[in-house]
Amino acid sequence: MNNFSPNMLKTFISCPKKYDFKYLQKISMPQKMSNFEKGKKIHALANYYLRGDNIDKFETVLNPEEKIIWNNLKNNEYLKKPCIASEYNLSCRIGEYWIGGRLDALVKDEYNYYILDYKTGSIPKNPEYDFQTMVYLLCTYRKFGDNLKFIYIDLKNNQNCSIDFSQEKLQKYTKIIEETCDKISKFVPLESTSHSSLCNLCEYKKICF
Ligand code: SF4
Repeated sequence: MNNFSPNMLKTFISCPKKYDFKYLQKISMPQKMSNFEKGKKIHALANYYLRGDNIDKFETVLNPEEKIIWNNLKNNEYLKKPCIASEYNLSCRIGEYWIGGRLDALVKDEYNYYILDYKTGSIPKNPEYDFQTMVYLLCTYRKFGDNLKFIYIDLKNNQNCSIDFSQEKLQKYTKIIEETCDKISKFVPLESTSHSSLCNLCEYKKICF
């Protein structure tokens, strides 16, 4: 049985052909490394920090841009709340499918649990219905109940985007995810596919046309 990650669901909805290349044929293409590397470094640092490790040495090797981003994160109100876990793997069953992923961090106060997601790039265009939001909220809800919020920490603009959870959303998210998993499980890759403006940004462009 497949365990669907948010990226798998997102990729399938954006382009089933891309899903085929990436997750069925397992072809990986080179990607721009600069943003990826910056994000990786900040996530690693946040993980050490939340675990209570001494990060003084790591902070000294950050470049000026990384220092600003890191200070934005370290001083964020949510990073100051008690941490339940960081780099936290969670999964849950939705109908006949498993979904899951790794939360950047889960923190709490006397009112709520907060799923934190640090973004060194942009936050999703429709954050409430992004697959990452939906999958992480459903998995966390199953373990911790519904006093729950999802917080995208936009490090570039130093602001937070907060998404509430509710029983209404539980129904909606479950339906969207189950329907998407259904489509993926019935998907039969085609030889040819139609192209769109999205293709210009796609890493599989060279092998797809
Ligand atoms: S180039 Fe276009 S059609 Fe081909 S995989 Fe990428 S997005 Fe899909």
